[in-house]
Amino acid sequence: IRQIPLLARLYSTEASLQKEDSTTDLKDAKGFKGHDMLAPFTAGWQSSDLHPLVIEKSEGSYVYDSNGRKYLDSLAGLWCTALGGNEPRLVAAATAQLNTLPFYHSFWNRTTKPSLDLAKELLETFTANKMAKAFFTNSGSEANDTQVKLVWYYNNALGRPDKKKFIARAKSYHGSTLIAASLSGLPALHQKFDLPAPFVLHTDCPHYWRYHLPGETEEEFSTRLAKNLEELILKEGPETIAAFIAEPVMGAGGVIPPPATYFDKIQAIVKKYDILFIADEVICAFGRLGTMYGCDKYNIKPDLVSVAKALSSAYMPIGAVLVSPKVSDVIYSQSNKLGTFSHGFTYSGHPVSCAVAIEALKIYKERNIAEKVSNIAPRFQDGIKAFSDSPIIGEIRGTGLILGTEFTDNKSPNDPFPSEWGVGAYFGARCEKHGMLVRVAGDNIMMSPPFIITPEEVDQLISIYGKALKDTEERVK
Ligand code: PLP
Repeated sequence: IRQIPLLARLYSTEASLQKEDSTTDLKDAKGFKGHDMLAPFTAGWQSSDLHPLVIEKSEGSYVYDSNGRKYLDSLAGLWCTALGGNEPRLVAAATAQLNTLPFYHSFWNRTTKPSLDLAKELLETFTANKMAKAFFTNSGSEANDTQVKLVWYYNNALGRPDKKKFIARAKSYHGSTLIAASLSGLPALHQKFDLPAPFVLHTDCPHYWRYHLPGETEEEFSTRLAKNLEELILKEGPETIAAFIAEPVMGAGGVIPPPATYFDKIQAIVKKYDILFIADEVICAFGRLGTMYGCDKYNIKPDLVSVAKALSSAYMPIGAVLVSPKVSDVIYSQSNKLGTFSHGFTYSGHPVSCAVAIEALKIYKERNIAEKVSNIAPRFQDGIKAFSDSPIIGEIRGTGLILGTEFTDNKSPNDPFPSEWGVGAYFGARCEKHGMLVRVAGDNIMMSPPFIITPEEVDQLISIYGKALKDTEERVK
């Protein structure tokens, strides 16, 4: 019975810490061990046998745990607290809205001013392609589920009932509801959940370092992937493929920026077969890459866009789908025929979430946040990439304020460390020990600090990363 937990423990930063440092027993002081949550993306044995890291307070780029320990939050929560942990203007916006109108819905042509204002503001921020309408959700997963329903509704309205399949990419992450998990290209999200749903197909992951052929340039790699996509479309029948969905930079799959010319070539194929392009900007939007949207950076002209996370700097749950006129015009005429557009959530356009998001967008504009990110990005990227020569690092990759490290042996994508060594987990545990939280997924480490991170905090982040790397090198060799 204990075999699996014992093996799995090797992956737990918490377990590693407990082995390394008995002072972490203090975490039991407030009696959190063995809690009652069915916790997201957490193994049962972790919830029942270990102490969770309980975060109690946040301030700028830092969070504090229940023992008062301070950590540099290098992932900005879950890639989302863009304005850091205590932006008073967001708190004031929420408080003012709670005091005026804590809730009203947006069904049956009733709505609230914050949702109308946010739709207008949000559409103005997106300039890569004309967007006509915004539909509000509570999360990125709901936004991507909504995308599928909109696309099906659109093709039914156009009399194309067979054009229903979606193409996503291996290693993509689009959320964890039924449809969003199906779109995601991570096997862990499918395993034992009877997913993916049959209408979802997955094409190549655009990770040049890992998948390029000997001697193949980035451009040639992109050409090959576009060709594979075209072959998949032709094999399935273009009349059955409705949409292609992609993150501008893949996030949870390990931080994978696109290889040169990738999106130009993919967009040409998608367009050729009248397939809609959906940009999943849930991580990339609002400045993360040093541009307002990932689409701006890679010259993507999508038909539909998903946003969430930094939309409210994560202070309130909210996501949205931006819809181009080509799609929204068809949806409007279809809903006129049917008498309604029967899709929506109680909290679509929640006024408090919208009020906070309006304020966040205002702050991004006033502070030229994309430019600020682009100015600080070289310090962050170059500082961490300086560790690329480490014998245990295969690749460090990233752009703007998003970065991934992949540990491998012999600097080769084909020589992973034995999983039971828990190299990534050990690195994560050492970061935690030195006062920084990172995201660990196997031997991949991910970071995406808040947009407001200062140069001094970037230096601290690099210094902690360096210390944890040294500890890990010593352990591995
Ligand atoms: N899409 C992307 C690219 C994401 O990174 C995420 C979450 O990390 C989602 C969608 C799902 O968002 P949520 O967790 O808000 O449902």
